[in-house]
Amino acid sequence: MTADQIAQSGIIFHNQIYMPKIIPADYGGSLFYQATIHLCDGTVLTHSSCELNDVDESELYDRVLALMRNDVLAHNVRPRCDYLDMEKTLQYWKQIGQKNPIEYLVSACLAGEHCRYDGGSNLVPAIAKLVEDGIAIPVCPEATGGLDTPRTPCELVKNRVINKDGLDCTEAFQSGALHVCRIAERLGVQKAVLKQRSPSCGCGKVYDGTFSGRLIKGDGIAAAMLKKSGLQITTEEDWQ
Ligand code: SF4
Repeated sequence: MTADQIAQSGIIFHNQIYMPKIIPADYGGSLFYQATIHLCDGTVLTHSSCELNDVDESELYDRVLALMRNDVLAHNVRPRCDYLDMEKTLQYWKQIGQKNPIEYLVSACLAGEHCRYDGGSNLVPAIAKLVEDGIAIPVCPEATGGLDTPRTPCELVKNRVINKDGLDCTEAFQSGALHVCRIAERLGVQKAVLKQRSPSCGCGKVYDGTFSGRLIKGDGIAAAMLKKSGLQITTEEDWQ
């Protein structure tokens, strides 16, 4: 594929390719597409093929994607990190002859993404600048693990992750952490700056599982996996 074709197969933003979630469905015997994407600032964009008139079924997918692309570019806000298509981005960089510029993984909420459990962020301007400068890639293990935002807060209880309603969310946390480790490996990243105290990203300190604000020594699920993969991890508390 040429660079243009790769860019047209998703949504290009700052030389990275993002893919909205596009779900096909049968709607009264007709093919129907529903596309959704979350932007970093918490905005949710949706488009569906119902907005299109007189379009051949074979073109519906591309036309819904084009609607979404135009909307994201009009907002001029980066899509949330869980919509990044790593493989297409790497292919795109190769086609335009750009060397992989990424040196750090950073917790997406530190870069200002509204992916925290309550829909907020933990913006640290200097960390957001690393992302703006193209040398850091934001990751949110909980979002990539398939958890919604907002979501019920979770804490570590021994080796499990339990939410405040008592539901075991360990599987989603592990799946998100694995995904983030794959990104680090694929990009050859050696360093990460992660959000302290989180049950995913916390490094050295996490909440004790009683939802009382008490801290204990320990690492979040993603931080532990990234450490095991050999990454050098710092947190927003000790990063200059
Ligand atoms: S601390 Fe980690 S898992 Fe939690 S919102 Fe921030 S990036 Fe996502």
